Amino acid sequence: EVPVPSDSQIAGKVKPKLITGVAHELKIQTDELEQYGKYKAKVSLDILNRIGGHTNGRYVVVAGMTPTPLGEGKSTTSIGLAQGLGAHLNKTAIACVRQPSQGPTFGIKGGAAGGGYSQVIPMDEFNLHLTGDIHAVSAANNLLAAAIDARMFHEASQSDNALFNRLCPVVKGKREFSKSMFSRLERLGINKTQPEDLTEDEIGRFARLDIDPSTITWNRVVDINDRFLRQVNISQTLTNKTVMSRDTQFDISVGSEIMAVLALASDLSDLKARLGRMIVAFSKSGAPVYADDLGITGALTVLMKDAIKPTIMQTLEGTPVFIHAGPFANIAHGNSSVIADRIALKLAGTAPGEPNTAPNVGYVITEAGFGSDIGFEKFMNIKCRQSGLYPDCVVVVATIRALKMHGGGAPVTAGAKLHDDYTCENVELVRNGLANLVRHIENCNKFKIPVVVALNKFSTDSQAEIDLVVKTATEAGAYAAHLSDNWALGGAGALDLCNAVVSACELNKSGENQSQPDINSVIYSDSTPLKEKILALAKSIYRASSVSYSELASQKLDIYEHQLNSGHLPICMAKTQYSFSADPKLKNAPSDFDLFIRDVRISNGAGFVYPLCGDIQTMPGLPTRPCFYDIDIDCETGAITGLF
Ligand code: ADP
Repeated sequence: EVPVPSDSQIAGKVKPKLITGVAHELKIQTDELEQYGKYKAKVSLDILNRIGGHTNGRYVVVAGMTPTPLGEGKSTTSIGLAQGLGAHLNKTAIACVRQPSQGPTFGIKGGAAGGGYSQVIPMDEFNLHLTGDIHAVSAANNLLAAAIDARMFHEASQSDNALFNRLCPVVKGKREFSKSMFSRLERLGINKTQPEDLTEDEIGRFARLDIDPSTITWNRVVDINDRFLRQVNISQTLTNKTVMSRDTQFDISVGSEIMAVLALASDLSDLKARLGRMIVAFSKSGAPVYADDLGITGALTVLMKDAIKPTIMQTLEGTPVFIHAGPFANIAHGNSSVIADRIALKLAGTAPGEPNTAPNVGYVITEAGFGSDIGFEKFMNIKCRQSGLYPDCVVVVATIRALKMHGGGAPVTAGAKLHDDYTCENVELVRNGLANLVRHIENCNKFKIPVVVALNKFSTDSQAEIDLVVKTATEAGAYAAHLSDNWALGGAGALDLCNAVVSACELNKSGENQSQPDINSVIYSDSTPLKEKILALAKSIYRASSVSYSELASQKLDIYEHQLNSGHLPICMAKTQYSFSADPKLKNAPSDFDLFIRDVRISNGAGFVYPLCGDIQTMPGLPTRPCFYDIDIDCETGAITGLF
């Protein structure tokens, strides 16, 4: 249809199948589903007991070139690819995407259900609360934040013995350690099971965390773009003020460590172990304080017990989509969950004895946020290292408009009318901007996985512009490059892309890559020291010539490396998505710049070290005219408008 109707008009015209039907087509059994209304269900992790022995399906990761603020259609392409493979080429095809955050949905960018004829439906349910996982993350995060301040408050006014007596009260005439206390005792090297047996010294060490408030790295979170919470002073009431008042900050929920833990955990016990080992602060004597030291591990896990199950929904063409976890790619690791991918790979895979080859085998299309320098690099170095699951093919999504912007086109601003540079043919701008795409292809090729470029078609693209992109991408080492018109045509518009992905996966399986890629030989190995890892990443992927550190960042890295023995962890760089560098204004393919690291945190539960580059913020802000201006509900029919 020309012009293509709005996302909500398209979505509104399609009656979704009942989610039980979508799940049954995937051979998910009724008792493995927990329905949330008619069109969403959580999938029980018990399913892995049944199909865990299957051979995995093919694993496709969708990445992108450096985007404009409008987004270049990675979600749209991921969904279109799944629709093409599933509804047109008759394969099992499951898209795995992140849950949208309320920040962008109501802020600048809008929802994340894809767009045009490639969407997840019902798009309002997808974009709003879904099955409550982000709320659970916020709840758990903030319980822990409250626990830290409460503990400091109580420690400030009580003696060691008073603290101990309250932590281990006499119940039915007997003093007992709660279950959660034994791991703290073990960490302290106190090998006793009865509270009565502790010496005075042990009582003090056990009961008093002695947190140094200036070392607290655990922030409160909220899933809203609220820049006014970037620095707050808590505890202004008179009773507490003298002891407790301190500066802290809110981060957006999807940038929190608990969100990353959810995305990287392999099962409930792994989730619990990760939550317990999150480092929230250091004591005055310099010892790390773990979440578990606050006796909160069990409670946090209870809050996350449903969030750990992925949610299944469907595309406009009735093919399955898993939605799970939602870390941003710039300030977090930017990939949906390991659990969802693993279940999807088993469902798309083959039963023991069945040949694990086309046409039996199915496809999992998982999306990595923003450009390949961010989401895809973190996919490989964080998610794959932890899951042991490596992709068979990487799709790099490009658009003519982003190429033109990198080639020197007028600035692209969300909400503003696009400049003529973008609506009229301009082959020269495209040619100039291709250096950006070429670099993404080169970077992806370093991981020795076939790269397929998807040129997401906009109605304003000219044939000469398209031809130039396809030719240049192929010459730059892409396995294939194809125009994809799935925004306007749905899966039927992505068939060339789908076929290229299918053959790239087969090439990967049949060729020398058959065994897992040796990730340790690509950019850095686990054993490379932290600063060397950062330098290797900066040079190899961002093409910086050097890395410099604030004194604070250097000191902290030293502590992580030498005191916490965490040098083996991978790096999760918090960096702008708008440039290979840390400066969003440096477009195209900059090189020979210095990458400045202003601060660094450790996400010990998620399992990465988290440097902050440039002026990247862990709490976004709202623009003058946020998306919420257009969001409305018809109170008669309940129809929601303005989500896109
Ligand atoms: P990303 O995942 O890369 O951030 P999205 O898939 O969310 O990008 O797309 C960003 C926006 O652009 C969405 O509103 C989507 O509907 C729109 N869009 C994507 N592809 C096209 C296209 N080919 N033509 C017109 N609009 C598109």
